[in-house]
Amino acid sequence: MRLILMGPPGVGKGSCAEYLKTHYDIPHISTGEMFREAISKQTEIGILAKVYIDQGKLVPDDITNELVKERLKLDDCKKGFLLDGYPRTINQAEKLDKILVGLNTKLDAVINLVADYQVLVERITGRLLCSQCGKVYHIKNMPPKVEGVCDDCGGSLYQRKDDTYETIMKRLKVYEQQTKPLLEYYNEQGNIININGATTVSVSVNEIINKLGGY
Ligand code: ADP
Ligand code: ZN
Repeated sequence: MRLILMGPPGVGKGSCAEYLKTHYDIPHISTGEMFREAISKQTEIGILAKVYIDQGKLVPDDITNELVKERLKLDDCKKGFLLDGYPRTINQAEKLDKILVGLNTKLDAVINLVADYQVLVERITGRLLCSQCGKVYHIKNMPPKVEGVCDDCGGSLYQRKDDTYETIMKRLKVYEQQTKPLLEYYNEQGNIININGATTVSVSVNEIINKLGGY
């Protein structure tokens, strides 16, 4: 199964991906996660990307495209993949098409998660992440059993630096201007599946699996 997960920040792409990668036994490729890892390791890409990410801007296409191209070449992607947060611009989508032609493969579907802005802002401003395993919590909606501590691995929880109200507003604007036009791009290819992202993760995931049933 070769899938793209699309949708605005906070719609639940990462949370849904956690289930989908297990269900379809495919690698979860999140460019946001890859950048965060690069930042924590202070690699060249990480140092570059941090400047953009902290401001709520997109990392330049060339850097992002190269990162994904190399990742998709790895052996584990032969059985399929789940792209999360990529592509985010028309340039990236066109590049992805070329990468896939080069790999002699095609997308099965583009999953578009939908929720209104009020829901997104509420979710992102309360979002907490585990510093060790990456599990996502929410201060009100999905609190950990012990404050500040991951239920699964005991790691400490933190708030992403780009999850402040001001940066979220910028990210939502970037989404509107640069990523939303991709829906039209993929609509023309005829493989978009729209999913309600405003409910719970398990409801969204079930809807996705049901709608992908024919694939
Ligand atoms: P969210 O979907 O909540 O914005 P992500 O973890 O997907 O979170 O992305 C975090 C940040 O990483 C983005 O705001 C952007 O700066 C950068 N980023 C992630 N994916 C891409 C991409 N495909 N192109 C450019 N920048 C990206
Ligand atoms: Zn954890």
